[in-house]
Amino acid sequence: MNSHFSPYSKEMQLQGHQKDKDAPPYKMRKGNRKKRQSKKVDYKGVPIPSRGKRSEFTDKHRKQIIEYFGGDWSCAECGYHAVSFHHIQFRTAANGLGRNNPRNGVPLCDRCHRRCHVEDGHMEYAQMWRDRQIAIWGPDYYKDAIDLWKEGKIERPTEELMDRYFEKERARIDQTRC
Ligand SMILES: [Zn+2]
Ligand SMILES: [Zn+2]
Repeated sequence: MNSHFSPYSKEMQLQGHQKDKDAPPYKMRKGNRKKRQSKKVDYKGVPIPSRGKRSEFTDKHRKQIIEYFGGDWSCAECGYHAVSFHHIQFRTAANGLGRNNPRNGVPLCDRCHRRCHVEDGHMEYAQMWRDRQIAIWGPDYYKDAIDLWKEGKIERPTEELMDRYFEKERARIDQTRC
């Protein structure tokens, strides 16, 4: 016999369990789950990496950026040896966070890189790079697959779909050019 008190019928209890199963993970019980997920935040069941991770250029991204700018490690501005990868849309920008999309990166020498980050006077140089990428890839050039997915522009947050999206954007822009 059922010895413990329950305010709900068996049916209601089962419904409750079913609801738990269908709910997205972040809505499920507190406790263990919270500990395991620590820094990651789920969006529609997909773990979202931290902001830092999403803006960090990995070796793979760096290779892609280098290839895009001619394959040698030269500064895209002056041709001197490139030592850093500038985030064209800054990682902390108020009008949109620059991600590690390789379209948001450019290899620069120390001197040219500094021009992008000078407080006064040279902000137009940093803006020049933004305008240049917008003219090639469209206004989303600095976003990552998760951004595009959240905005409903791709069906799943994968690199493949992101690349396809940008190829389409490029074709669209090429067509409007005379
Ligand atoms: Zn340079
Ligand atoms: Zn920079």
